[in-house]
Amino acid sequence: MKKYARFLLAMIALLAMAALVTACGDDDDDDTTPGGTTAATKPAAAPTFAADSTMGKIVAKGKLTVGVKFDQPGFGLKDPVTGKVDGFDVQMAKEIGHALGLKDDQIEFVEAVSANRIPFLQEDKVDLVIATMTINADRKTQIDFSRPYYLAGQSILVKKDNTTIKSVDDLNGKNVCSVQGSTSEKNVKAKAPQANLLSLTGYAACVDAMKSGRVEAVSTDDIILAGFAASDTSLKLVGGQFTQEPYGIGVKKGKTDFVQFIDALIAKELSDGTWDKIYDKYLGKVEGLPKAADARAKLPATN
Ligand code: GLU
Repeated sequence: MKKYARFLLAMIALLAMAALVTACGDDDDDDTTPGGTTAATKPAAAPTFAADSTMGKIVAKGKLTVGVKFDQPGFGLKDPVTGKVDGFDVQMAKEIGHALGLKDDQIEFVEAVSANRIPFLQEDKVDLVIATMTINADRKTQIDFSRPYYLAGQSILVKKDNTTIKSVDDLNGKNVCSVQGSTSEKNVKAKAPQANLLSLTGYAACVDAMKSGRVEAVSTDDIILAGFAASDTSLKLVGGQFTQEPYGIGVKKGKTDFVQFIDALIAKELSDGTWDKIYDKYLGKVEGLPKAADARAKLPATN
């Protein structure tokens, strides 16, 4: 009888454990980061923040809103079928959300184009902008930036059969497309002042303009252009890098606590291998890019 009671107790314990495992395993599989944290493996004690801190307010709201690109392969691209956005910048947003203790369904992505990134922050339409955004002195007077999380450089995209454009100087006298409100547009004006510049709202539209013959070249950061070239063999990059474009995460001016929080997370991910995993996942297939460790070594430590 005693034996039977012990068996019964053991069975009850086993069933209880099984129920617990099922409950824990119920989480959305998507909720995984390259760092390997999942909602299920997150520490039971969620991080706590002072109620009046930027992080505390976001956690209390239960939602992190992030402006990302929707039309740039590799950094922020919306899948027309699933409606999901994915890319390096999108993943950075998820890493920040998870570090705040939020789950994927508490992170909202809003489409940002180059020209509205700063107003989006100033008007509180988003908490963050992570959208291939170069840190520079002019922008720093309007918003705050995290430390650089990627270092790009401006380059040129042409059709493969183009033989006349090989450098930024060759853009003079040609029809060239770039994007309103970008550093790329400014750099074309400064470095090829005789170029006929067509300024559109996004780079995908520029690539379309080139394919239809309206322009001969598209100029912006090499890594954005490489994303388009990777999925279209009729295109090629020329001219090397003629600027440096360190990407930063944009935060509304004065939210210093949030910048510090994000900087600490970037530092951790640069040293624990997470950044390398993100780089390999989203940019690993891009031709001619350095290995993750070499790209990481080139990143400036401050903005
Ligand atoms: N990184 C440049 C910029 O922030 C060009 C890329 C873009 O427009 O998103 O303006």
